Amino acid sequence: MDIRVDSSKCTGCGICEKTCPFGAISIEDRKKEHPRFKRIAVISSACALCGACVEACPFKAISIKKEEQKPSEDLTLYKGVWVIAEMAEGDFHGVTFELLGKGRGLAEKRNTYLGCVLLGNGIADKAGELISAGADRVISCDDAIFKDFYDTAFVETIAAMIKEHKPEIVLLGATACGRGIASRISGRLKCGLTADCTGLDIDSNGFLVQTRPAFGGNIMAEILSGNTRPQMATVRHKVFKPLAADPAKKGEVIDFPLPGGIELNMSIRDFVKDVTQRVNIADADIIVSGGRGVGSQEGFKVIENLAGTLGGAVGASRGAVDAGWIPYSHQVGQTGRTVCPKLYIACGISGAIQHLVGMQSSDVIVAINKDSQAPIFQVADYGIVADLFRVLPVLIKEIEQSRR
Ligand SMILES: Cc1cc2nc3c(=O)[nH]c(=O)nc-3n(C[C@H](O)[C@H](O)[C@H](O)COP(=O)(O)OP(=O)(O)OC[C@H]3O[C@@H](n4cnc5c(N)ncnc54)[C@H](O)[C@@H]3O)c2cc1C
Repeated sequence: MDIRVDSSKCTGCGICEKTCPFGAISIEDRKKEHPRFKRIAVISSACALCGACVEACPFKAISIKKEEQKPSEDLTLYKGVWVIAEMAEGDFHGVTFELLGKGRGLAEKRNTYLGCVLLGNGIADKAGELISAGADRVISCDDAIFKDFYDTAFVETIAAMIKEHKPEIVLLGATACGRGIASRISGRLKCGLTADCTGLDIDSNGFLVQTRPAFGGNIMAEILSGNTRPQMATVRHKVFKPLAADPAKKGEVIDFPLPGGIELNMSIRDFVKDVTQRVNIADADIIVSGGRGVGSQEGFKVIENLAGTLGGAVGASRGAVDAGWIPYSHQVGQTGRTVCPKLYIACGISGAIQHLVGMQSSDVIVAINKDSQAPIFQVADYGIVADLFRVLPVLIKEIEQSRR
């Protein structure tokens, strides 16, 4: 793509400069004389070709030329939706089941099968769990090389599987492991990859519509991988819901041999658990979260009390984390954790989009905020317009009394 300023039309008015979210446009003196205008817009290499200036220019002086791209291979050869299963200490990561739940719906819309890649050591009895969770086919490679997480072994094997079986969609968890291998696999296969999707669907042309926050969370972008296959996406834990397990479901298991010539360029000496992580809000069924409205570190005591009374975990907005009232490990949102509890109670949180993307799929959302216009009320199932310091003590008392 190429962006141009038509010097005969540009008046140097500066509207584009103000519109550009990347600060890539400056209004400068013209090098060549113009009969009427002394200044002109100049676009720097910081331009991300977002097109905001093209829409804003009242003189139609800026244009983006798109080169027509064509697929380099026959895309109709690609069939099937695949999920890459992730395991730790012999158990599947929850995101595997969530992706199988979402993948099932996508496969049905594409009228194709749902596959799941299973790599591990001594995993013969594990394929059944994936089939019960929705997979029609498990593509499995059982080898001692997968005992520990050597990303090169995973990348080479999965890339070889994709080359041979040609799935049209490949989904991975946006976990530390998933993120690490997804980019390398897409690099090997020269196909598109969209990280941290918050929504996946199939459009009327059969493309995977990958929705994710963009430009600092200010817009939700819908991304298509038009000319390459497979269409690859990563999704965070708790964004989608797993299906109820169906032990009667039948499926096929395909053994895939370990590709030759895998060279590991590192060796794992030991695993050290991170003990600084006091809470795992991603797994909590109940979360009571505090925002800037809590006012201080001291103010979080009432949030902790309600969480303790309900047997839940404490979450926080970035506003509260940035203020230093609570550690980052509690942060919910785009740059924190994505959570999906049964009950999410937001106290003194305004409901910025970056917070909402991390909690809006919670089953029940309760918002407590002094401002009746706060955006959090748009996603809340129950809203209380009040001072949180008046509501929470009453709520705690009522819950305790109801248990006596
Ligand atoms: C790239 C990027 C990533 C980001 N990532 C995240 C993220 O992961 N998570 C996140 O949360 N934010 C994130 N943010 C920040 C986000 O945009 C907001 O600034 C932030 O969520 C605001 O936090 P808040 O709601 O606690 O504070 P505010 O927006 O200041 O809201 C405080 C609310 O408390 C209410 N209130 C005040 N006193 C009381 C009281 N006594 N009782 C009841 N209500 C009261 C007010 O009415 C107000 O609505 C990100 C921003 C950017 C640009």
